Amino acid sequence: MEPYLGDPKYTAAVLKMHGISARKKFGQNFLIDRTVLEDTVEAAGVGAEDCVLEIGPGIGTLTQFLASRAGKVCAVEIDRSLEGVLKDTLSGWPNVRLIWGDILKLDVARVAEEENGGRPMKVAANLPYYITTPIVLQLLESTDRISDITLMVQKEVADRMIALPSSKDYGALTLAVQYYSRPEIVRIVHPSSFMPQPGVDSAVVHLSRYSEPPVCCRDPQQLFAVIRASFNQRRKKLVNGLVNYPPLHCTKEQAEQAVAKCGFRPDVRGEMLSLEEFAALSDALSLLQHFRNLS
Ligand code: SAM
Repeated sequence: MEPYLGDPKYTAAVLKMHGISARKKFGQNFLIDRTVLEDTVEAAGVGAEDCVLEIGPGIGTLTQFLASRAGKVCAVEIDRSLEGVLKDTLSGWPNVRLIWGDILKLDVARVAEEENGGRPMKVAANLPYYITTPIVLQLLESTDRISDITLMVQKEVADRMIALPSSKDYGALTLAVQYYSRPEIVRIVHPSSFMPQPGVDSAVVHLSRYSEPPVCCRDPQQLFAVIRASFNQRRKKLVNGLVNYPPLHCTKEQAEQAVAKCGFRPDVRGEMLSLEEFAALSDALSLLQHFRNLS
């Protein structure tokens, strides 16, 4: 069956017929632009062999486009009041399985196990913007059973994902995304592509997950603690950020030695360091702390 949602006429008619209005508290902005839907599915690289995890099907618009190309779509929706409309709009796509609940509480590895025989799934979504960062981090950190992630996000978040060191958008999200995946902006999306219109520009991003991280690091948990410490006090010297972050248990002497060992200036700020440099710093700190514990 050909997807028919994604046209403002149909979306308005479906909403009216089911007595639904978009719920702000769930970040509901429904897509009404066919070109955006087609570009999203194209960027997701979905084919008949794929099982796709969709976050927030809403009234089933992107779901129709995904299900027309994929072998299977598992769509996770928190808003149970959409049950009637989804039953209606997805009746022509028997390869869709609806999962009711909060994506942040979902065991994604288990879904891959049960729905795709343990093989990695692809993720596609027009995200609810109020929880973009926790969703992205969950998808990247919680499991390697996801190969590709294609998302509609606020343009400002897309800019942070692809940012370079020393730019205003560079931060902890940049480094987490770039540690696990190669991000690219597929296209910019104007507010008029949604009903109702959000107050910001959006972008479709594609994150291609690495099978191995692009940098070597003894302890990835320590690496992310060092990154968090650095950006907690973004405008301060890195040494102070490290010392003032309790989970690192780092003395001033250790922070200064680690920074010197990596060849950074004593007044370096975290926002200047690349992912490779953060990995080197994390390893230097690990070694210093290891030897202190031995002595
Ligand atoms: N996919 C539809 C579209 O493109 O028109 C709707 C996208 S709308 C921006 C976001 C969707 O995510 C809504 O359907 C909303 O109810 C759902 N949602 C919000 N929070 C969620 C959560 N924690 N877990 C699962 N779905 C959620």
